[in-house]
Amino acid sequence: MALIPTEKIWHNGKLIPWNDAKIHIMAHVVNYGSSVFEGVRCYKTKHGAGIFRAQEHAQRLLDSAKIYRMYTDFNAADIVRGMVELCAINHTIPCYLRPLIFRGYGEVGVNPKNVPIEVYIANYEWGKYLGHGDADQGVDVCVSSWTRNAPNTMPAMAKAGANYMNSQLIKMEAVANGYVEGIALDVNGYVSEGSGENLFLVKNGTIYTPPLGNSVLGGITRDSVIQLARDLGLPLVQQLIPREMLYICDELFFTGTAAEITPIGSVDRISIADGKCGPVTRKLQKEFFGIVSGEIEDRHNWFTAVPVNQPAVIG
Ligand code: PMP
Repeated sequence: MALIPTEKIWHNGKLIPWNDAKIHIMAHVVNYGSSVFEGVRCYKTKHGAGIFRAQEHAQRLLDSAKIYRMYTDFNAADIVRGMVELCAINHTIPCYLRPLIFRGYGEVGVNPKNVPIEVYIANYEWGKYLGHGDADQGVDVCVSSWTRNAPNTMPAMAKAGANYMNSQLIKMEAVANGYVEGIALDVNGYVSEGSGENLFLVKNGTIYTPPLGNSVLGGITRDSVIQLARDLGLPLVQQLIPREMLYICDELFFTGTAAEITPIGSVDRISIADGKCGPVTRKLQKEFFGIVSGEIEDRHNWFTAVPVNQPAVIG
């Protein structure tokens, strides 16, 4: 997806020009992948611009950093303020936000002694991630030959840049073989998640999703869907999912900030029902898209308002 530069990027509490947000090739992160990050959406709702679950994304960013002993003086409220400030100043509504914490330029050893921690937030225009633009048609996916990282290797609950080497293997293989996305199994052969999405399935009226112990990211959209299922009185369990459940389920869908709620039509060329968005997925989509568009009341206070004085340039 082409990146369209905005005017400003937030760096350690200050706004700098987009083109000045540069790092040295000997920065720790370039050599060892030492970064954690977030992907957040700012929606253009009926009631104005709003960042979706800003607080939860900021907290997950800091939690990811904590797992890797990357300490910063900025707290979650600072990150939320930075995101709001950036959306307001760049006038790119709707947009995707990319908060990022990494080890910068200092010493060159693996042990990050005397290496500064840098905090950045960028935002940019981003549209539909998966699918062909037809919300009713499920996407075609495969089970990846690559497994997710084993729990005691790269911690899945940290959204670390380096985890996305594994995601790249899954995604590139899937695309090379004509699929939109790959589903990875965990090290024990149970269903984990997509390269950048959590996974849910429906079987006999019950919704299933793998628990956090199956090497999945604690997705914020995953959490939203769990809350919406509860609101709608739909039974949902978090349990181990064997691979073959993917082939015989009634409905299957991805969730993610980028993917939102994307129905899956086939796995390994085996059709899921008629390959179209199923009734439970549709109920959840209706509720989710209703809330993010402002058509349905934001009863969980998921939005942080962005004061945009001038008309948005996008959307
Ligand atoms: N799993 C992985 C590996 C991801 O990269 C993402 C996207 N952040 C998700 C799940 C979905 O998480 P969220 O709903 O918070 O975007």
